[in-house]
Amino acid sequence: MGKVMTERTLAIVKPDGVQKGLVGEVVRRFEAAGLRVIALKMIRLDAERAGGFYHVHRERPFFSSLVTFMTSGPIVPMVLEGEGAIAAVRRIMGATDPAKADPGTIRKDFASSIERNIVHGSDAPATASFEVGYFFSALEMQPR
Ligand code: UDP
Ligand code: MG
Repeated sequence: MGKVMTERTLAIVKPDGVQKGLVGEVVRRFEAAGLRVIALKMIRLDAERAGGFYHVHRERPFFSSLVTFMTSGPIVPMVLEGEGAIAAVRRIMGATDPAKADPGTIRKDFASSIERNIVHGSDAPATASFEVGYFFSALEMQPR
């Protein structure tokens, strides 16, 4: 079993989550799990920036629909810090497809489809590093 490390990860309340009034609920679940919010803001992506964020999926059939969805309204990206933060956020979010997500996860409780699934969370240390830097500079993070 690997050593548990203090990590930083990027989470996003997606446009559907903001529209449904779930910003506070999502942050509450992360904080209740002991994760610390060290940066947070509300922005709206354009297609170029949404596509850049999801560049690993650019050849997937769902890519253009995903970009349309992610530019459809404001989003709330945040940086979370804590022991094993990357896996913790993934566990709290649940599976990509809400039909396959475990009970008590954000996606099981609130997502309407595999695309409109309320939250994003980085899936590994390398992607977390890229994704945190995509939205936040060092000066915008308040570790404690
Ligand atoms: N997505 C989709 N259809 C799919 C798979 C993914 O619309 O068949 C969307 C969905 O919003 C998902 C995002 O693309 O959250 C990124 O996909 P990924 O496989 O990385 O899932 P995640 O890491 O968000 O669970
Ligand atoms: Mg992913």
